[in-house]
Amino acid sequence: MVLIPIGTSHSASIEGMRLKEVCCERCRCEYIYFAQRTGQGQGFAPLFLFQGAAENSAEKAAYERLQKALDKAVDIAPCPQCGRVKEFMVRAKRVAIWQVTAAAAFVFLLPVLLFSAFGVGKSYVPDTVSRVAIGTVMEVVLMAAVGAAVAMVFSPNDGRYFPFFRKSFQPTVTAEDYRAQLAVEHEQQQQELAERAEQMRQNKERMEAENSVKRERAKARKEEEARKMAERAKGSNRRPQV
Ligand SMILES: [Zn+2]
Repeated sequence: MVLIPIGTSHSASIEGMRLKEVCCERCRCEYIYFAQRTGQGQGFAPLFLFQGAAENSAEKAAYERLQKALDKAVDIAPCPQCGRVKEFMVRAKRVAIWQVTAAAAFVFLLPVLLFSAFGVGKSYVPDTVSRVAIGTVMEVVLMAAVGAAVAMVFSPNDGRYFPFFRKSFQPTVTAEDYRAQLAVEHEQQQQELAERAEQMRQNKERMEAENSVKRERAKARKEEEARKMAERAKGSNRRPQV
């Protein structure tokens, strides 16, 4: 097969994070964490034209996907005070486990269909259609059981983190600590700004002082020249009298 190039495709990937506010369902502590996601986008430049537009559309698509992913993002973020993981976070991860299991079931479906179609278990079920149907049902039931088992095993509030790890949980901080941290950062920024303004003021003053010295010198020089000229004039006035 010969591939004929018909244009270039551009892809963009943008990372982003968003602050998520949570209220603990056990101790009512308000806390925050940052959800991080990546958005991917594609753009195509037909006949190698409009490369800039293709790049822009890839970036735009990536940005939109990123925003959607951040909107929906739910991470396992335990309460910083009591360690409780909110029920909706556990539910979101269980849904994710189900999705992965469904994807795996879909991948395994083809070999199951092929094996049953080509006669695995023919001695038990001679009819091909029935064999394929039974194989499919068995595969779906088996994968559903695996998904259910893994989803039920995952219960972080009972110390069961599988299939995730404790360290994959998001770091959290109480809203109060976060606000205090922001206030400190704000104060530092204000201080830096004030220092910069002071530096600029000092620079301006120094320049003005230097300029005024220069002006003074120039003035003195002019006066000196004027005096010399006046002296010379006096001298030339006197000379004819001698
Ligand atoms: Zn709590």
